[in-house]
Amino acid sequence: MGSNIEILPLEAWFNLNNFPLVISGPCSAESHEQLMSTAKEIAKIPQVRVLRAGIWKPRTRPGEFEGVGEEGLKWLFDAKRATGLLTTVEVAEPAHVEMALKHGVDILWLGARTVVNPFSVQAIAETLKGTHVPVMVKNPVSPDLKLWVGAIERVYGAGITKIIAIHRGFHYFKKSPFRNAPMWEIPIELKRTIPNIPIVVDPSHICGRRSLLEEISQKALDLEMDGLMIESHINPATAKTDAAQQVSPAQLKTLLDNLVVRERQGNPEFQNKLEELRTEIDKLDGEMLEILAKRMDIINEIGDYKIENDITILQMKRWAGIIEDRLSIGTNLGLDKEFLLNLLKLIHTESIKKQEKRFKQSV
Ligand code: PEP
Ligand code: MN
Repeated sequence: MGSNIEILPLEAWFNLNNFPLVISGPCSAESHEQLMSTAKEIAKIPQVRVLRAGIWKPRTRPGEFEGVGEEGLKWLFDAKRATGLLTTVEVAEPAHVEMALKHGVDILWLGARTVVNPFSVQAIAETLKGTHVPVMVKNPVSPDLKLWVGAIERVYGAGITKIIAIHRGFHYFKKSPFRNAPMWEIPIELKRTIPNIPIVVDPSHICGRRSLLEEISQKALDLEMDGLMIESHINPATAKTDAAQQVSPAQLKTLLDNLVVRERQGNPEFQNKLEELRTEIDKLDGEMLEILAKRMDIINEIGDYKIENDITILQMKRWAGIIEDRLSIGTNLGLDKEFLLNLLKLIHTESIKKQEKRFKQSV
């Protein structure tokens, strides 16, 4: 899936001062005081260049705090004047684009829930025509690279060449420590599909909790991503949205100062390939563990069967046969003999332990 679009490289329109682009600010603008005090504090952190705030926040169910609306754009403008930071807000419909631009917002962003819907993206793209405003496009909630690329193409089709993709993780049905699984292979594939596309990683929405932010931020930099969007709040405990994942300005400073910005070797190919291979390893390890668990289940079944028939657990002949057979298969596959022996012994010891436990329970 190639794409012919030509995005302006980030360095061509943004003076990065050698540090990845850092965007920060509250999940939601809540009050003039909250936005202004957060902005003033984070503006003291040299790495922070852009102030973010959600103004329109429709929630999963109605009735909760739903954002302050247009009023918040005035606060954002005040914060920009007071700090010199650039500003960015999420726009989810054409009217938002018009209001944001009227109030001097510098960069717009499309949220994960908007990007899943090409109708919405196209309607916004129509309004963007002729504006030339920079636009950031979050990945869709679902792990669907095509939808993400499609949204970027629609924005590009409106004549916007200053485009940044934001990686905020993906909804994933399996248990995971993350609120949204990072699935790094998808943003990496996006870079391959649209070569110049800058990618800003949003650790806040990937992690869902403060304790994981630093690890994911570092990983983003190590994968040569172009920046970070991290939610910050003057008093995270009182935040009306996403309280668990927001950091105070002081915590933000510590986090950013702890990050190691490694030399970019000009070789993202290497990193991408490495990540691809590691993803493959993760998958194989998962499969291997599933197979091992399945084997243990059968061991239990055999144990029960032996009990029923009053047969000893360890049957030397069988064990000797296994060793011989598996060593031959394994060495033919190129695996080291000693390693195989150790592995088989380990599995065998655990199997015997399991059956003994069942024997004990049965008497
Ligand atoms: C946000 O940035 O506050 C937000 C709502 O993010 P997302 O669209 O990634 O869920
Ligand atoms: Mn949020």
